[in-house]
Amino acid sequence: MGSDDRHRLAPTSVTARVELETVQPPLLQEDEPPPFSVIAGSETSPYLITCDHAGRELPRALGTLGLSRAELDRHIAWDIGAGGVARRLATELGAFLIMQPYSRLVIDCNRPLDAPSSIAQHSEYTAVPGNHRISAPDTEMRARSIFHPYHHRIRCELERRETQGQPTIFIAIHSFTLTFMGVARPWHIGVLYNRDSRLGRILLELLGREAALVVGDNEPYAASDETDYGIVQYGERRGNPHVELEIRQDLIADDAGQTAWAELLARLFREASTRFPS
Ligand SMILES: [Zn+2]
Repeated sequence: MGSDDRHRLAPTSVTARVELETVQPPLLQEDEPPPFSVIAGSETSPYLITCDHAGRELPRALGTLGLSRAELDRHIAWDIGAGGVARRLATELGAFLIMQPYSRLVIDCNRPLDAPSSIAQHSEYTAVPGNHRISAPDTEMRARSIFHPYHHRIRCELERRETQGQPTIFIAIHSFTLTFMGVARPWHIGVLYNRDSRLGRILLELLGREAALVVGDNEPYAASDETDYGIVQYGERRGNPHVELEIRQDLIADDAGQTAWAELLARLFREASTRFPS
C-alpha cells in the first residue's frame, strides 16, 4: 500500500494523535523501564495476577514530583512488598503475572482515569507538588505512556485466553499500611470485592480457618467503581472469578514474609480453584 493510500484511509483521530506527539515529547525515554513487566505462566493455569502498584519508578521527565527521597520510599509512592508476594505467588501457581513498575503517584493504574485520585494531589498527609495544576496534555501523556499500555497488555492476555479457551481467575495483589491517618489497622489481610463476591467469599472462608489471622471483609476499604479498576474491568465485566487482596505491609517487608504469604495464598487459591469449573 502506497503512502497516498495510507493517508486516504487514515481516520481523523489518528491524525490528531500524531499532531499531539509532535508538540509533546514522550514521557518515557528508551532507556527507562517499560510500563509493564510480564512473567508468563503455564498455559494450563487459570490464574492471572496483576500488581498495579509494584514499583516506585518515576519517569525522568517528572523529576521527583517535588517529593523527597524519603517520601518516595514510603507507602504513598507504591505498595511495599506487594511485588515480591505477586512474583512468588505467580511462581507457585504457574500464573501469568503483569506488574506495573511506575509509582502510583505518576498515575494510579487501579483507578478510572476520571477519578479525582487518578493523579493524586495529596496522599495521606503529604502534598504532591508535581501533581498540582497538571495540564490536560500532561495528564493525557501520563495515561498514554503508562496507564494505557499496561492495561492494553492485560486485555491482550485476557483475549488470548478467551480465544484459546483458557479460563481466567483474576487476582489483584496490593498492600496497605499498618497505620493510616494515625489509626492502627488490625487486619493482616483484606479480601476486597464489589458486585461479584464468588471468589471473595471462598477466600474469606479459607482464610477464616487460619486461626492466627485477622481477616478483613472489604477492609481496610471496600472495592468500588470509583476506587478500583482491575477487578471491575477484568473480573466483573468479563464474568471472570476475581478478588483483590490487600496484605499489611509490615508482614511482607522482607523476603521471608513475602515467601510465607505467597505459600499460604497459593495453597488457598489451589483449593479455591477446585470450586470453579475449568
Ligand atoms: Zn495498591
